[in-house]
Amino acid sequence: MSTPPVVPQPRNCTVCDGGLPIARIICSLCGASNGRYVAVLESPVTGLPESAQCFVSDLCRITQLDGIPKLEGKWVLESSQFNVCATPSEVFPLANKILSTACRIMSLYFGLSYRPIVKFIQCLDTGGQPCGNEVRISFTLKTTSRDAMENLTKPINGRPRATAIFEAAHKDAKIRYALDLYQDIEDRWPNVYDIIEFLGGPKGIKNSGFGTEKETTTVKQTANHYRHLGSQKQFPLPSKPPSLPQAAYFAKKALSRWIESRL
Ligand SMILES: [Zn+2]
Repeated sequence: MSTPPVVPQPRNCTVCDGGLPIARIICSLCGASNGRYVAVLESPVTGLPESAQCFVSDLCRITQLDGIPKLEGKWVLESSQFNVCATPSEVFPLANKILSTACRIMSLYFGLSYRPIVKFIQCLDTGGQPCGNEVRISFTLKTTSRDAMENLTKPINGRPRATAIFEAAHKDAKIRYALDLYQDIEDRWPNVYDIIEFLGGPKGIKNSGFGTEKETTTVKQTANHYRHLGSQKQFPLPSKPPSLPQAAYFAKKALSRWIESRL
């Protein structure tokens, strides 16, 4: 038995009857919400049913969808914060942020050793049925992971780079130390800060050609602000601070280039 594909249908706003572009739930004419977004989750092991018992408010609800053919049994994250988003791509970073907070709370009590991820964002119409396109992880991230696989498997002396790094780490304590700087399963501001310090700060990174001094300074100042959140003293953000994924990407890229320079 196969489920018929969900074909996005053009819809009209339930309030002003204006045409709604596909995959939008906020009417651009009258601003009314015409449904809701859900972030469809995936976890490598169990944990979602437990999370669903823990997060039950409008701000953060983890629940299993019921009665929606295409999405039957899927675990989703819902949040009233999604309601202001006009497009699913705006929901993505919000959903990641909310999920990250939920995971931190879980791990504080549970020692969570895995992390559920947002698979895609689905928009549901006012009747609860899927509408518009599901939006998968953003294009940049996809590109990054394809690049990452290419980078990891690129042959160095007849072995994939990942193997070369592993073997080099076995012999070189500095590489082992560098890898320890990024052992967390998720991006964290203190890691970003430590990596920049390890690589010699903005000047060292500039001299090694791993990044510009200006960008490094901005990333470092932002990381310093967030790693001091528990402090009463103020560490101001720079103007135009990067997001955590952007900063982590910058730090990881510089660190991997440093490691590669030692192979
Ligand atoms: Zn409208």
